[in-house]
Amino acid sequence: MSEELQNIIAEMKKQLEHLRVLGVEGIQITAAAAPAVVAPRPEPLQKPARVENVAPVGPRPSLFGDVTAAPVKLTPSTETFEQIHAEIGDCTRCPLHLERTHVVHTEGNRKARLMFVGEAPGADEDIQARPFVGRAGQLLTKIIEAIGLKREEVLIGNVNRCRPPGNRAPTTEEASTCKPYLLREIGIVQPEVIVVLGNTAMKNLLDTREGITRLRGRFQDYKGIKVMPTFHPAYLLRDPSKKRETWEDLKMVRDYLDSHL
Ligand code: URA
Repeated sequence: MSEELQNIIAEMKKQLEHLRVLGVEGIQITAAAAPAVVAPRPEPLQKPARVENVAPVGPRPSLFGDVTAAPVKLTPSTETFEQIHAEIGDCTRCPLHLERTHVVHTEGNRKARLMFVGEAPGADEDIQARPFVGRAGQLLTKIIEAIGLKREEVLIGNVNRCRPPGNRAPTTEEASTCKPYLLREIGIVQPEVIVVLGNTAMKNLLDTREGITRLRGRFQDYKGIKVMPTFHPAYLLRDPSKKRETWEDLKMVRDYLDSHL
C-alpha cells in the first residue's frame, strides 16, 4: 500500500473517531456519495414477483451499527396498574424504603391524553400516599386547570415512589430501580403528551444529560410520545418569575392536544 494511501486511511480513522466522540452513530454510504467503490448492481435476470405482506427490509449495515432502524415505539401493553402495584408491594428494592411512610403510586385518568411526571414524593405525598398534593401539587393543579383540564382528567406520577429523606433528589440507582414501573404504566396508558417536571424527572425519562433550562419549551420524544420538559412547580414556588416560561410551555401542550383531537 502506498504511503499516500496509508496517510489517507489514517486521516479518515481520525475523522471517524472524532465523529464517534461527538455522538455520530453511523455514516450511510450511498452509490452517489462513493461511485468509485460501489459496484453497479447487476440487472435482475427476471422481474421479481410481487410479494405481499413481507416483513420490512432489515436494517442497513453501517460503520457504527444500524442507523436506519425505525424509531422505537411503545408496544401495546396488556397488564394493568393493579398488577404493577401488586408487584411493587411493600417495596424494599432501594434504600428509600427505609424512611418512607407510603409508596406513592401514579394516580388519575388511566385513559388520559396528558400525563405529568415529577421526581419523587415529598412529605405531604408520603403521608397521604398520593402524588403532588402538597404546595407544589396545588400549584400543579392550577397549571392543569389553566390549560382547561381538571386534575382528574390527567395522569400524575413520579419517577420514584418513595420520599427521599430531606427531599433530596433520588440517586441514579434509586431512580433506575423505580423507573421501570412508571414506564410500564406509560405503556398501558400511552398518553399523547407527557410533561416532565424539572431536571430530575426529565433526565430520567429522556435519558439525557441536557439540563431543563436548555430543553424546556421544546417537544422531545419518548417512544413516539411527545414529551414537554418544563420547570418543577416547587421551583416556581421559589422563583415565581419562571411561571411565565412554564405558561408558554403548557400553552404549547394545550395547542398540540387541541390540534390532535
Ligand atoms: N414533587 C414531586 O416531584 N412529586 C411529588 O409528588 C411532589 C412533589
